[in-house]
Amino acid sequence: MNLTTVMACATCRQALTEHPDGKRIIYRHPVTEDRHDAIPVNGHDLQQVFNRCHTCTTAEPVWNYRTSHLQIGDLTTGVVATYNDRWHVCYRCAQFIEADDSDALTAHSATAMLWPPSSAEYAILRTLHRGIVLGREGRTLLTTTGWPPARLTADMLPKIRDRFTGLLHSPADLPGPINDREQRRALAGQLDLAPMYWINDEFTDMVNEVSHDQPPVKITDELVPSPTGLLAWPTPVGTDRQLAAASWTPHDDGWQFIGYRSIGTALDDDLMPLLRHEIGWLAPIHAEHITRRTPLHGRHPLGPLITTWLLIKQQMAEAVPAKIRKSTTRSYARTRRAAPDVRIVRIRPSNATPTSPRTPTPGSHGRTRPDHRFWVSGHERQQAYGPGRSLRRTIDIQPFLKGDENLPIKLSTTVRVLGSRSTKEAQRSADE
Ligand SMILES: [Zn+2]
Ligand SMILES: [Zn+2]
Repeated sequence: MNLTTVMACATCRQALTEHPDGKRIIYRHPVTEDRHDAIPVNGHDLQQVFNRCHTCTTAEPVWNYRTSHLQIGDLTTGVVATYNDRWHVCYRCAQFIEADDSDALTAHSATAMLWPPSSAEYAILRTLHRGIVLGREGRTLLTTTGWPPARLTADMLPKIRDRFTGLLHSPADLPGPINDREQRRALAGQLDLAPMYWINDEFTDMVNEVSHDQPPVKITDELVPSPTGLLAWPTPVGTDRQLAAASWTPHDDGWQFIGYRSIGTALDDDLMPLLRHEIGWLAPIHAEHITRRTPLHGRHPLGPLITTWLLIKQQMAEAVPAKIRKSTTRSYARTRRAAPDVRIVRIRPSNATPTSPRTPTPGSHGRTRPDHRFWVSGHERQQAYGPGRSLRRTIDIQPFLKGDENLPIKLSTTVRVLGSRSTKEAQRSADE
């Protein structure tokens, strides 16, 4: 499930607030009662969506606060204005709310809107902000915030993991699909012990180059590099370059996958240490339960993870233990935790000397070698076994990148090896 969709009104292009009502969700305009009926559409389909902090309007919102329905009545006119019960608030305004400082929240917001303290608007704002600060019932992390990406390094991974598990243990809510408290505790416990993989720059470039065209790969126990794990790339990958990390944990008949966006330096200097402490470096953007043997192609939101696994499995890449900073191992030891297991994954060093792409090779019957590498799609093969080789079992042949490792990669050229071919033929083409 994609967690980054902003629903906006097709009429006024304002980002809408979500109000669960049984199984369905009702969408409302922010702040005040509707001037027209909200027409909720996916914000990606609109040209420009107005998605700003509901209190100061100067920054993108990070938290969604819940209050009871706020109304302000004017004692002289008797007019009652109805506001909302969901408040999308930027990181700075959230600090005022958390400090129970509604006056500072009003001063900050009114300054942004150029409303002097003597104005009628200022008085309304002050009443409304008191309602939010005093009447708040909880808050949910918005996963729709478009953070600039961070550059993630191998030695940051233990801290990155610990901040995310800290968020899982915190009282703050997460979006519905990943908010079940028991599952959050279980996930944090699993991630605490998980090996962490950092993909180096060269291998990340390769994943970006080939992932889009990767044919479907069946997710199996043989493919996953460890039962549980957290894997990060130095810069985001994927078609829209949003996926910075992914985690997988065993779950029923498959795995629970979460894809993350990274959070770069997005706020003023005074707020960054707080942000790192409260939220950290990872914001979930995709959550999905995937059952064993589900085929996933490279354009799936988790496609780059699958491509990375596949290339590790096919020994194009190797994982080597990363050196952990002494300060990190010491702080783990202090809390009686085993030293974090971080592995750097890099393209396996080549032993072969580069060959001229067009030189015919002996034994290839005069055929020229291809001048590029390409994906060969996967298939199932019936393998004979048992007494007199009379029994058959299904063997998965996963897709693989074919061609000499020094050759460029040609995209959109998937050669299909048909499952209906004889075992011998399929085996031969797989060995070529
Ligand atoms: Zn509207
Ligand atoms: Zn704000």
